[in-house]
Amino acid sequence: MLFPLEQNTPEFCVFEALNRELLYFLEHAVLVGLFTRQSLSDTALGLACWNNVKTPNIRGLLTRDKFEALHIALQQEPEAIRRQLFVSMRDNQDFTDLFQQRKHDLLAFIPQDLMKKLQALCYHLYTQTKTLDDIIASAGGVRIDEHFTEFKRINGTVCRACGLEPIAPFRANVADDNQWRADYDHLLCKSKYPIFAVHPRNLFPICRTCNQDAKKTKDMFFCNIARQQRHSFDPYIEGASQLVELDIELDDISPKVMLKLDSQDPILKSKLDTWNDVFEIKNLVEGRYMSLEHYVSDRIRPRDLQDLQHQVARGLAPPTANSLKRSAGVFWDHKLYLAMSRSNLELIFSIANFLDQEHGIPGGEFILAG
Ligand SMILES: [Zn+2]
Repeated sequence: MLFPLEQNTPEFCVFEALNRELLYFLEHAVLVGLFTRQSLSDTALGLACWNNVKTPNIRGLLTRDKFEALHIALQQEPEAIRRQLFVSMRDNQDFTDLFQQRKHDLLAFIPQDLMKKLQALCYHLYTQTKTLDDIIASAGGVRIDEHFTEFKRINGTVCRACGLEPIAPFRANVADDNQWRADYDHLLCKSKYPIFAVHPRNLFPICRTCNQDAKKTKDMFFCNIARQQRHSFDPYIEGASQLVELDIELDDISPKVMLKLDSQDPILKSKLDTWNDVFEIKNLVEGRYMSLEHYVSDRIRPRDLQDLQHQVARGLAPPTANSLKRSAGVFWDHKLYLAMSRSNLELIFSIANFLDQEHGIPGGEFILAG
């Protein structure tokens, strides 16, 4: 994470309730027995899960069927496996503790067939069950769109993982709860950590690039390529914003912006490396300013060298907390101005100015004129 989530970030009540129900079910599946109404909790939410069952008019298994399929699969395993699964979920509900311990092999004891049934139920709880009217009503009546609106009110609209993009496009003339919603990212991916598929601390919105292009199913606690355990920022406590700088490498042809992700502390360095690996931060940030001369020419648009110097001096003022929350990219632009202030602006200006005179003005007028 570039910025940690705000301490008062609300947990989504439907995820809280489904997470509790999953834990209840796993506890009561430890003992030998058939799948009955008592396998789910004696609450309105337990009843809502029980009532969501396959009927002749509906294709595919529904929530109760998924619970039952997992119950049957669990009963075919030794009691020790059933107990270990329940204990693994019960004893790892504290995400701050989990991020300290980095239990990447938490569910390694589960046989493959059982894992598939567990994944099927947990995916279903996340993708289907959370949107059912009975489930929402029994969990407190808050829909995910309302939670998303509250999340944005507190954390802002800029992706906390990268700081480069808004978490979702904002449309004028559209009510808050009808705005397009970002997908909620499973920080610990639901394929490897299905027991956290509806854990409220494991789910929050980030931008589409971070979620769908960069992160996918990468493991926060284990590097598949290096085959080794790694550290990761706890998203509710830590971020990288104080640990990153931009530098500009100059040559006569094209200046290059470089992101530095260094720390003397090996644990912090590991956290920075994990953040970079999971979200491709270095490639995305350096890509934003590639090439620098085009960025200067198109975004800063200096009239002359003195104007560029003045604009860079103005850009050194740090962005406010509110602007960091509402304007994507301002954190990184500020870092760029800091790097430019340490660099040879005369050379940067001359390269940008040369490019404009070579290619820019006639083409721009042509495009604007249609
Ligand atoms: Zn992002």
